[in-house]
Amino acid sequence: MLDQLAAHLRRNPRISVITGAGVSAASGVPTFRGPKGLWRNFRPESLATPEAFHRDPKLVWEWYNWRRQVLSEKKPNRAHEVLAKWSRRFSDFKLITQNVDGLHERAGTQNVIRFHGSIWEVLCLKRCEASPSRWWDETVPYPEIPPKCPYCGGLIRPGVVWFGEGIDQNVMRQSIEALDCDVFFTIGTSSLVYPAAALVHEAKARGAYTVEINVEATPASEQLDLALQGAAEEILDEIDRNL
Ligand code: NAD
Ligand code: ZN
Repeated sequence: MLDQLAAHLRRNPRISVITGAGVSAASGVPTFRGPKGLWRNFRPESLATPEAFHRDPKLVWEWYNWRRQVLSEKKPNRAHEVLAKWSRRFSDFKLITQNVDGLHERAGTQNVIRFHGSIWEVLCLKRCEASPSRWWDETVPYPEIPPKCPYCGGLIRPGVVWFGEGIDQNVMRQSIEALDCDVFFTIGTSSLVYPAAALVHEAKARGAYTVEINVEATPASEQLDLALQGAAEEILDEIDRNL
């Protein structure tokens, strides 16, 4: 199975990939739905929302401050490395990630499409006139929680897409462009969070050969051309060694 896939990849097809939290699991980054996904008994679904932020910005920022601290000590794993290598090897390679952790970028992947934004970006909550629309901020930990906008002194918020928020138009346009490809991989995602979960089905409808890599079956598995069950860092490594 894997050598057939590798043979196909050797013909330099147009490849698009969407990744989720499972790709970072081997780096020690907890997935949301796994047993280690909880923080002080809060569910991510109850913290990563505009309502939670308006109710208690300090609590939500404490969670992000903690996640940023955890992430700052993590390193890309073999899954990130193989995908970074492929981004240079294949002439038409696009990577969409639902992850906000920055590990694809740190592994050297070119042109990452950050579907849900980045935990390393922030923006002024009021989008004050003096501030850029968003900016990179790697402060860990913040000396004061919640951190303040350096331009107006108001609140800033993480540059991530919260539950109930829409996807940035530009990011959506780039993601839709990525659907026209020959092979579409969906890797380490539970395929439960929409609209991200819809992308693989749309790619298949447009004629792509669709491949899933996940440690367990997902709602998408049965509908795709090939569902490979196992760890992303192991399966990607094996495919890469066959190339
Ligand atoms: P999820 O937690 O819902 O699902 C993770 C999936 O990864 C599961 O299906 C699990 O079976 C699979 N998995 C676990 N270990 C794996 C491995 N080693 N190899 C392959 N698969 C493995 O995550 P999601 O689907 O990405 O959706 C949750 C949302 O939460 C996303 O929008 C994302 O932005 C956010 N999130 C991001 C991070 C991060 O940036 N690292 C971490 C947690 C959640
Ligand atoms: Zn401001």
